[in-house]
Amino acid sequence: MPEWDAEVAVVGLGAWGASALWRLASRGVDVLGIERYQPGHALGASHGGSRMFRLTCLEHPGLVPLARRSLELWRELESDAGETLLHQVGGLLIGPPDGSVAGGTLRAAAEHGIEVERLGSAELRERFPQHANVPDGHIGVWEPSAGILRPEGAVRAAVRVAEAAGARVYRDTAVSALELVPGGAVVRTSARTLRVRQVVVTVGAWLSSLVPGLPIEVLRMPITWYRPVGDRAPFALERFPVFMRERDNGLIVWGSGWEGRYDVKLGLENADEHRRPLDPETDDRSVGPDDWSKLSAELATAIPGLEPLPAKVGVCMLAETPDGQFVLGRPGGDARLLIAGGCNAHGFKHASGIGEALARWVTGEPDFCDLSFTNPDRF
Ligand SMILES: Cc1cc2nc3c(=O)[nH]c(=O)nc-3n(C[C@H](O)[C@H](O)[C@H](O)COP(=O)(O)OP(=O)(O)OC[C@H]3O[C@@H](n4cnc5c(N)ncnc54)[C@H](O)[C@@H]3O)c2cc1C
Repeated sequence: MPEWDAEVAVVGLGAWGASALWRLASRGVDVLGIERYQPGHALGASHGGSRMFRLTCLEHPGLVPLARRSLELWRELESDAGETLLHQVGGLLIGPPDGSVAGGTLRAAAEHGIEVERLGSAELRERFPQHANVPDGHIGVWEPSAGILRPEGAVRAAVRVAEAAGARVYRDTAVSALELVPGGAVVRTSARTLRVRQVVVTVGAWLSSLVPGLPIEVLRMPITWYRPVGDRAPFALERFPVFMRERDNGLIVWGSGWEGRYDVKLGLENADEHRRPLDPETDDRSVGPDDWSKLSAELATAIPGLEPLPAKVGVCMLAETPDGQFVLGRPGGDARLLIAGGCNAHGFKHASGIGEALARWVTGEPDFCDLSFTNPDRF
């Protein structure tokens, strides 16, 4: 029996872990991946048919270089996998010019030289009449580089390409414990015990169960699909592109138009009623009117061309940190352990770049951008 089963184990193959597995395997690193369900499942954070991609990251200026590198890597993954994962059809950010959404986008674009177009309220109403009751003072910011990613497809593609490059993957296998030992780590599952030099923990909302002590709150977040009242055409993705809209009451509505078999997808960014703490191990994912009533009420005035009740509702999970930033790196500087968590509802677009950053930390290559603001030891 060899002393080590692999150089690296990646635990959890959602968006971030699948990307790490792909970036490691593509370098020829001896890596294995362990996922408690089937990659692309609907019980974590990386499902629901679409995720917004944009370069104008409002959450931290340091995320723009990560988004740029992620864009290159999404294209590389598409090429390796032979399928389209990112539809860059443009995106619309609406709100007051000094607000967090439209104003924040203008600031990020100016700071990082990202191409955007500013639309006054009259032009916005004319080009995107589906958005009703836009107040006179509000603006739209059109970002041509924005679009939507296909989360389930991206996760499965990254795992598939990683396996083709030599990664070993254990599906339907939950890691029950991690133990750091001299020179490496022991990864325990019900079926086997694996010994590796380094372990990368990318278990999303489950992070605290394997790496305790981080201030991460797990929230359940509904995802909701609606149908147009009459003609569907104005709500097709090309005419009703991915958007975020900040309203005068402080709520942020987000969504994107229908495409193929997907209906119009919508959500509320900051409605406390829709975000409730969740234990990923024990809570069920059933849904009820509490999951959509506030959004439906908002749509009556914001996007009245949609039916008042959703056609479909699902539940997603997110892991929040006190400062809203990711948690990426080696806790306590330990060379055997890397963690990537705290997705804070904006982490999908960066998954490919985060996978690349993790792979570089594993191999000791230089960073491609400064991610020190995400260091787990900041808490
Ligand atoms: C409603 C919603 C909307 C969002 N919208 C956007 C958006 O528009 N744009 C954007 O960029 N981001 C968005 N996000 C955020 C984005 O989806 C997440 O940042 C991203 O999916 C996080 O991926 P992850 O790999 O960290 O987590 P996950 O996808 O949850 O992956 C964790 C994996 O670990 C596995 N696992 C857990 N425990 C174990 C164990 N013990 N052993 C083995 N495997 C284990 C799980 O099964 C899972 O597959 C949104 C999030 C939500 C909830």
